[in-house]
Amino acid sequence: MTNRQGPLATYDVVLVGGGIMSATLGILLKHLEPSWSIAVYERLPELAAEASAAWHNAGTGHAGLCELNYTSEKSDGTVDIEKALRVNEQFQLSRQLWAALVEADILGKPQEFINPVPHMTFVRGAADVDFLRRRHRAMTESPLFGAMQFSDDPDTIGEWAPLLLRGRDKTEPMAATRDITGSDVDFGVVTRKMFAHLETVGVDVRLRHEVRGMRRNNDGSWKLRVVATDATDDRISSKVDAKFVFAGAGGWALKLLQKAGIPEARGYGLLPISGRFLRCDNPAVIERHDAKVYGKAPIGAPPMSMPHLDTRIVDGRRTILFGPYAGSSPKFLRQGSLLDAPASLRPHNIGPLAWMGRNNLPLAWLLITQLAATQRRKISALREFFPAAVAGEWSWITAGQRAQIVKADPVRGGVLEFGTEVVAAQDGSIAAVLGASPGASTAPAILLDLLSQCFPHYRTLWAPRLRQLMPTLGRSLADDEVLARRTMIRTAEILGLTAVGAD
Ligand SMILES: Cc1cc2nc3c(=O)[nH]c(=O)nc-3n(C[C@H](O)[C@H](O)[C@H](O)COP(=O)(O)OP(=O)(O)OC[C@H]3O[C@@H](n4cnc5c(N)ncnc54)[C@H](O)[C@@H]3O)c2cc1C
Repeated sequence: MTNRQGPLATYDVVLVGGGIMSATLGILLKHLEPSWSIAVYERLPELAAEASAAWHNAGTGHAGLCELNYTSEKSDGTVDIEKALRVNEQFQLSRQLWAALVEADILGKPQEFINPVPHMTFVRGAADVDFLRRRHRAMTESPLFGAMQFSDDPDTIGEWAPLLLRGRDKTEPMAATRDITGSDVDFGVVTRKMFAHLETVGVDVRLRHEVRGMRRNNDGSWKLRVVATDATDDRISSKVDAKFVFAGAGGWALKLLQKAGIPEARGYGLLPISGRFLRCDNPAVIERHDAKVYGKAPIGAPPMSMPHLDTRIVDGRRTILFGPYAGSSPKFLRQGSLLDAPASLRPHNIGPLAWMGRNNLPLAWLLITQLAATQRRKISALREFFPAAVAGEWSWITAGQRAQIVKADPVRGGVLEFGTEVVAAQDGSIAAVLGASPGASTAPAILLDLLSQCFPHYRTLWAPRLRQLMPTLGRSLADDEVLARRTMIRTAEILGLTAVGAD
């Protein structure tokens, strides 16, 4: 192994990380400011190899159609659907951006990355059946959820998703909702296609390049220390100047913000949660399932460990995925380090992390019990959904690593957040996206938020340019039935998804 020194390079923008967040931000920035110079540094030998890889996430195009954690019961018994509406509006922007990129021949054939798969919610027991009925009533008042169907009839549920009913006692109370406008997305393909296009328009995409350090220059820009490793493990260390840095490093984003030393990152910590899925490749089982069926999370479990039985379409092949089974590991990335969690501790985040632990004992218990669970117990979780499942037909996949946000809270000391959050320096010269969910599905909306925080003076100039990609930007589809219908039909046609209400 030899260590050498490389030359100094200068860019307007450096995107750290080769996942869907950097890819999407690169696409937006190149569209807005084609003359800006952009470099991408990815530490691994390939792009989209961490959370954005197809088999490292569940591929759900999160649109609020099936996830129970996006709706809640209010004290007066009505159902709050605000979060589901917000996620759906965000996903409509993703659909519009991807449709524009398909039309511009950037994302290739839509079926290579997005496919129609109905989204279902399945519950059992009288109380949950009643909740689901009221939830369906509240949701279908919005044009965004107008396609959602409800049934508490086992035969109808069995027609929608035969595996749910095979071997199940039909006399127990059960109910399901189904929305045929749902989708399965291969975020790895989206990421790679975006980067392939960015390279054709002059973006410097460097693999095996890790950003190891950064400090501010006197003019407010950043000097990054980038270490390139070749196949023989020779290392070249170079300095790179950038006016704007996006720490699109997934679970390592906080580490970069801590290296940058910006005060806005103070008080943030991360809780890493590992995950595994069960995968079935038996064609006889696969052909009887065409849905993403979400259930209820176990008590105390984080919402993203809500079990689901999912049709996946990757590389043109159908499979079924079940999970996730949460576990614990101190790594913040799948290919991270066992020292990630201890090395992220700072005097300002130890308190919030300790309080979060105290406030979330059921979660700690869940992680311990899931780790210790026998194979038989894990299969019995699958059989809650698919009672006739044959253990030998399922194999294990290690999913991506989640790094959930923990932050200081004036009342509770420290809280665990399940969403994503943009953390940006006050002068907008560096920013990151922390957290994981709904994540990749809503990347465009998250990054639009980041752009408005980091480039406020460009807002007026950029708005019409952004509307070329996402025509309804700035307007609420939930409040405009005609616009909602027109937009959903148009993007469904371009992306090959199921549209409801087409004339
Ligand atoms: C189990 C699981 C299930 C999920 N299911 C869904 C789902 O169904 N739907 C959905 O929308 N979202 C889902 N998500 C979330 C989604 O996968 C993420 O939100 C998204 O992939 C994050 O993209 P990213 O670009 O931020 O990070 P990543 O894809 O992790 O990319 C970060 C990249 O940065 C690189 N990197 C890190 N540090 C450095 C450095 N210092 N220098 C250079 N490179 C660096 C890494 O190697 C990596 O390639 C799921 C996530 C998990 C873990």
